[in-house]
Amino acid sequence: MMNGKQYIESLRKLKPRIYFMGRKIESVADDPVLAPHVNAAAMTYELAFDPRYEDIITATSHLTGEKINRFTHIHQSTEDLVKKVRMLRLLGQKTGSCFQRCVGCDAINALYITSYDIDKKYGTEYHERVKEYIKYVQKEDLMPAGAMTDVKGDRSKRPSQQVDKDLYVRIVEKREDGIIVRGAKAHITGAVNSHEIIVMPTRALEADEKEYAVAFAVPVDAEGVTMIFGRQTNDLRRLDGDVDCGNAKYATVGGEALIIFEDVFVPWERVFMCGEYDFASQLVEVFATFHRQNYGGCKVGVADVLIGATANVAEMQGIAKAPHVIDKITEMIHLAETCWCCSLACSYEGYKTPSGAYMPNPLLANVTKLNITRFPYEWSRLAQDVTGGIVITLPSEKDYRNPETRKLIDKYLKGVADVPTEHRIRMIRLVENLSIGAELPESMHGAGSPQAQKIMIARRSNLEMKKEMAKIIAGIKPDEHFKRIRGISEEEFFSKLK
Ligand code: SF4
Ligand code: FE
Repeated sequence: MMNGKQYIESLRKLKPRIYFMGRKIESVADDPVLAPHVNAAAMTYELAFDPRYEDIITATSHLTGEKINRFTHIHQSTEDLVKKVRMLRLLGQKTGSCFQRCVGCDAINALYITSYDIDKKYGTEYHERVKEYIKYVQKEDLMPAGAMTDVKGDRSKRPSQQVDKDLYVRIVEKREDGIIVRGAKAHITGAVNSHEIIVMPTRALEADEKEYAVAFAVPVDAEGVTMIFGRQTNDLRRLDGDVDCGNAKYATVGGEALIIFEDVFVPWERVFMCGEYDFASQLVEVFATFHRQNYGGCKVGVADVLIGATANVAEMQGIAKAPHVIDKITEMIHLAETCWCCSLACSYEGYKTPSGAYMPNPLLANVTKLNITRFPYEWSRLAQDVTGGIVITLPSEKDYRNPETRKLIDKYLKGVADVPTEHRIRMIRLVENLSIGAELPESMHGAGSPQAQKIMIARRSNLEMKKEMAKIIAGIKPDEHFKRIRGISEEEFFSKLK
């Protein structure tokens, strides 16, 4: 396993082609704009060496018997699924941010499960390839990015109907030694500071869309791969010092990139699906289940930090004992722990797939994520309510550092007497960072937008069975248990009452 420092060192050996704000990023490990994202991902490596967290952050590989980082593990039990969400909550608490590495973890697990099923139907050899790839990832302790979302073009048209066929990643050529792929994937978390990119289809496909049914892995610096790093709210504040960022060390969200594949060659040993269109939806659903399981872990860890920040601000401003403040902070805790319950529940209700790997309960994983599209907005609203309007009106760090204005700020923005003004400012900036920035749309759209979860919930909730239950209770259908309880039929029972 690598530690945090070794992970950062490992990034220096790669030469991905990345652009941001009109310039080329020369070194992912050293660029100040990317540093917080790199630091957050590095925490997933570093904590594996902390004896307090070893049991959560490490696992034993079922492929090699070696001790590995849990982010490279294939879940072997429901206990593993629970440990995964415990790990994510812990990392949310340690970084106050998205630490990005879960996407690749979810991708290898989804590929492991799906490749087994593809092979069973078609006699292909994907599962062995996936296993070999996972061994490589485990041995080198790599961070693969998981790239699913295509750029999609005209959303009213299927992949095969687009005017430009490249708007969904596709196979443009099959060769003896591998395939050539073209297209782009959007919003890919942690892509720039990953070692590898795992590509999967984004939606269900039909028989005439085999060219889009493709899953594969390539190094981030493979020939033909270009990344354009996305802007985030207040991202350049990190160049101004550390106070205004609120969370200068670890950013807040993962750092997403648009990844473009311009005729990229993928050798056969890294191709995990090639034309099996009828398994595209399974791969998407399994991956989505894993990633939706996560959000009551990572986002709740971040919420723990926000709740702490809000309570600190309340103390620093002398309102901590006000009943309405206690009530609002309790409400925040309730919302966060509700999401945590969901992540635990879908993990405990997980099951063994034919491949032997375990996956969470899909219905409950989707409920977890749907709550995360809502509850963070509410706990952020409460955090802003308690903090006050100053969460958006604070003077800048530069004014605070300017001797001419520092004294004035120190005097007039003081809260309770024994707390330095700078501490109050730092805490308010943290509330701003966690409740106003990109965290909220990330909660909305990460792992799929709310409608995607609703579709899955509708599909998995067995509405027909609920309708039957209602018919029995309403007396429209016979109730076998009632008859046994009373020894007579419902009809006889009620006719006696009349
Ligand atoms: Fe992991 Fe959460 Fe970030 Fe997704 S949003 S990559 S689950 S930390
Ligand atoms: Fe995410």
